[in-house]
Amino acid sequence: MHAQRVRSAEVIIIGAGLAGAATAFFLTQRGVRDVLLLEGEVVPGAHASGRNAAMVRQVVPDPEVAALARQGAAFIRQAAEAQHQPGLYRQTGSLLLASGPDWESLQLDAEVAEQAGTAAECLTPSETAGRVPILQGAEFDGAVWCPSDGVVDVAWLLAYYLEHAQRAGAQLLTDCPVTGFGVRSGRITSVITRDGPIHGEVAVNAGGAWAGEVGRLAGAAPVALTAYRRHLFVTGPLDWVAPTWPFVWDVTHQLYFRPESSGLLLCPCDEVPWPPELPPVDPAMAEFLAEKVTKHLPGLTSIPLLRSWAGLRTFAPDRRFVVGWDPVLAGFFWVAGLGGHGVTVSGALGALASNLILAGPKNSAGPFDPARLLATREHPDK
Ligand SMILES: Cc1cc2nc3c(=O)[nH]c(=O)nc-3n(C[C@H](O)[C@H](O)[C@H](O)COP(=O)(O)OP(=O)(O)OC[C@H]3O[C@@H](n4cnc5c(N)ncnc54)[C@H](O)[C@@H]3O)c2cc1C
Repeated sequence: MHAQRVRSAEVIIIGAGLAGAATAFFLTQRGVRDVLLLEGEVVPGAHASGRNAAMVRQVVPDPEVAALARQGAAFIRQAAEAQHQPGLYRQTGSLLLASGPDWESLQLDAEVAEQAGTAAECLTPSETAGRVPILQGAEFDGAVWCPSDGVVDVAWLLAYYLEHAQRAGAQLLTDCPVTGFGVRSGRITSVITRDGPIHGEVAVNAGGAWAGEVGRLAGAAPVALTAYRRHLFVTGPLDWVAPTWPFVWDVTHQLYFRPESSGLLLCPCDEVPWPPELPPVDPAMAEFLAEKVTKHLPGLTSIPLLRSWAGLRTFAPDRRFVVGWDPVLAGFFWVAGLGGHGVTVSGALGALASNLILAGPKNSAGPFDPARLLATREHPDK
């Protein structure tokens, strides 16, 4: 569909990754049908939402993020179950390994999960290796087993949000980059595309790694977002890998792996600031992964890697999501800075964002409100 044919919309969402798609889904579920999603790429999900590890992880250190992760995981489980199609959500569980002070903190995070009703059991190293035998010889003080974690079919999840939203009236325009905004008296009046302006009083910034740039184009508050490149690697088939293994994340040494297509997917948790673009693969990262594996997961030493890719994870300075009305520009709403949790939390964030959009500008997402990032700027007297 061409932008010329769409002249206005009640809510215009910029970006059709998981953030934008989930927001559109919940807006339409709550009765807002005149929703327009504008995606700059030819297909939705070309960036972080199509280049991630697809893991649903609920035990995380920040309690505010953990609450959304539990809610997001429950949404994914229920949506997948309702499809009656195996494989959309593989509830493999997860093993989070840690040592030293990290092990102390991880046990506290597990307690928080337990208190909120999400099973999270502490295991000794030998109990852990009993579940995933190649962990024998790895050095860690203990592990948290979270049985309801798992791996989601992300292409399905994104399509689920988009198709339901479209069925309920939302429109999606792809190959339609937003190049500017119309603003009058401090309010959004339109969103500019190369096919002309589209009138609307609510613009939702779900631009992922580009969200900072989209905010600047609009003249919104200067929310500092930084994108970081991260690599993923996959092996060919390995006959000793059980497809039922949980995902395993060594949080002390920052390294994870999980079964993928009869082999393994691995990540060295590299984190290099990167400009918003499709990031190239750095060949040195295979060496970085090999070094980490040899040191910390000796059971996986010398496994042949078949291919790799990189994607961008985007963070606010305090690493919390940015969800809510812009403190400067009326009608401009942020759903950004999803970092490394965007798959897991998408359902919860979409629900939160749509509630706030419907409740109007006086309402805040508390710990995720964009205004918090302005308050932390240095006082001029200092
Ligand atoms: C390597 C890697 C591994 C990860 N693993 C996991 C994991 O296991 N579990 C998990 O929960 N999360 C994971 N994540 C994080 C997750 O993928 C992201 O948090 C999530 O995909 C972000 O979604 P988004 O919609 O904000 O951004 P994106 O998916 O980047 O979507 C933003 C969209 O906005 C569009 N856009 C930007 N500017 C414009 C414009 N001007 N006009 C129109 N469109 C525009 C872009 O084209 C893009 O499609 C991982 C991320 C990476 C990179």
